[in-house]
Amino acid sequence: MKLVSNAYWYLPVFVIAAFAGLAVQTNAVSHTVCSRHPVSIDGGTEDLRLRACEVVAHVSEVAASCDLRLKKTLYVHISPDRALLPPGCSGTYDCLSSLVILLAPEKLEDPAAISRAAMFEAVLMHETVHAMVSDELDGRVISRLAEEYVAYALQLESMSQSDRQKILNSQGAAPKITQELLNFDLLRAAPDLFGSAAWLHFKQPQNGCRFVADLLSGDVVLGRPVVNSD
Ligand SMILES: [Zn+2]
Repeated sequence: MKLVSNAYWYLPVFVIAAFAGLAVQTNAVSHTVCSRHPVSIDGGTEDLRLRACEVVAHVSEVAASCDLRLKKTLYVHISPDRALLPPGCSGTYDCLSSLVILLAPEKLEDPAAISRAAMFEAVLMHETVHAMVSDELDGRVISRLAEEYVAYALQLESMSQSDRQKILNSQGAAPKITQELLNFDLLRAAPDLFGSAAWLHFKQPQNGCRFVADLLSGDVVLGRPVVNSD
């Protein structure tokens, strides 16, 4: 698979200089409730939690263009403990508990193209979109591939142009992305490359939020649908 051969994508960053007017309630030492969105964050420093609220606000603006939003309270736990996460993961989302667990920035592996802080923010964006998708589906099931497409596409869309370009440049020349390339083999072998491919596909004029809506409605199926064992 040509796409995989030079694949080494890092989760992207966006650097938004200022989010004005984000009043945030902070209590105790390690807990922050974001004021504009239903998000409760614990762990990390207060500055990091405030920044995380800004990240959620930004990705929420981007996702709203595709009619995705947080409908339930999202709990975010920032931890230095890798043992809380699946192997190889920097973040995870559990739909049953509406809980995102993020590895603290200082514990992230040093990415070549972006900073640890940027990677942390990108992971938060990604997992927040997963939560929005879960809220929208409300128990309906679509393929894992479709969920990852939406999470990566909106994560990358939320990045600053310059940082996204760093990621794209690290991959070399991009082939024309077709729906057939967005398959489980690519997701398994090179999830970050799958993410960039998803974004490139999302940005094609005929796709965008319309394609996202088709994925969420089930009108378009990416990969194999999840089949209940019973
Ligand atoms: Zn994901």
